[in-house]
Amino acid sequence: MQVVETISEVRRIRRVGPGSWGLVPTMGFLHAGHLALVARARQENNHVGVSIFVNPTQFGPQEDLAAYPRDLARDLAQLEAAGADLVWVPAVEEVYPPHFQTYVSVEEAARPLEGAARPGHFRGVATVVAKLFNVFQPDRAYFGQKDAQQAVVIQRMAADLAFPLDVVVCPTVREPDGLALSSRNVYLTPEQRAAAPVLYRALCAARDAWQAGERAGGRLRRIMADVLAAEPLARVDYVSAADPLTLAELEAEAEPPRGVLLSMAVRIGRARLIDNILIADADP
Ligand code: AMP
Repeated sequence: MQVVETISEVRRIRRVGPGSWGLVPTMGFLHAGHLALVARARQENNHVGVSIFVNPTQFGPQEDLAAYPRDLARDLAQLEAAGADLVWVPAVEEVYPPHFQTYVSVEEAARPLEGAARPGHFRGVATVVAKLFNVFQPDRAYFGQKDAQQAVVIQRMAADLAFPLDVVVCPTVREPDGLALSSRNVYLTPEQRAAAPVLYRALCAARDAWQAGERAGGRLRRIMADVLAAEPLARVDYVSAADPLTLAELEAEAEPPRGVLLSMAVRIGRARLIDNILIADADP
C-alpha cells in the first residue's frame, strides 16, 4: 500500500499497469462502514484507491471542522489490512491551491434536508468529489447510503457532467442496536450513546407503517417525530419522508409515490446525527 500526499504521485501510481480502479473517498477516522466500502471496491476492481481528507469547504463556519476526529496511523493500519493499494492524504493546499475559485454546484437535489440545514455543504462535497474523480480517474467510486442525499447529489453530478465512472452506493453499516456507524459517534457520552438508537427506531416505525400501506408523507413524518419526542436527549433538526429521486417531501395529494426516502437529522449532545432508510420502487 502506497501512501502519498501530492496529486502528481497519485497520477503516477494510477498509470501503472492494466486493470480497473475503485475509489473510496473518506474524511478518515475510519470505521466498519468505511471498510465495507473498501471491501466492495476490493471485490469489484483490480486496484483500490482511498482518499483521507477532512474537506474544509463542506463545513459551515459554526460546524465541527476543527474538532473533527482524526487518527491517521490507525486509519492506515486498517486500510492496509483491508487491501487498499493507494491512499491519498493531501494537505488542504494540495486540494485548494492559492487562488482556487472553481466550484461544482448541484441545484435541486442539494437544496432540501441537509442542504437546507447546512448551507454550502453540498457545494463543498460536489467540488471535492469532482476533484477526486479527476485526480484518481477511477472506474468506480463507492459511497455509503448512510449519507443518502450525498449519494443522490454525487450521482446527479456524475451523470450531468459525464464523469466516465460508475457511482456505487453501499448499504449502511450499523451497530447491533441499530445506530448507524459514524465518525461523529465519538462525540457521544455513554448516556447519549444509549439514547442514540432512537433514530433507527423512528425510521423503522415509519418503514413498518409504509409496509403496512401508509403512503401519506405527513403521517410517516409524524410517526418518526413521535418516536423521537419520547427521547428527552434528542433534539430534532428535521424528519423527512421524501421522493427518493427528487427529494421533494411526499404530500397527501400527490401521485402514488415511487418509493420513499425516510430520513432525519437529530442532535444528541454535541453530535448531529443523520440516518435514513430507503424504500425503493419495487419494495412492498
Ligand atoms: P465520511 O468519512 O463520513 O465522509 O464517509 C466516507 C464515506 O463512507 C461516505 O460515502 C459515507 O456515506 C460512507 N459511510 C459513512 N458511514 C457509513 C456507514 N455507517 N455505513 C456505510 N457507509 C458509511
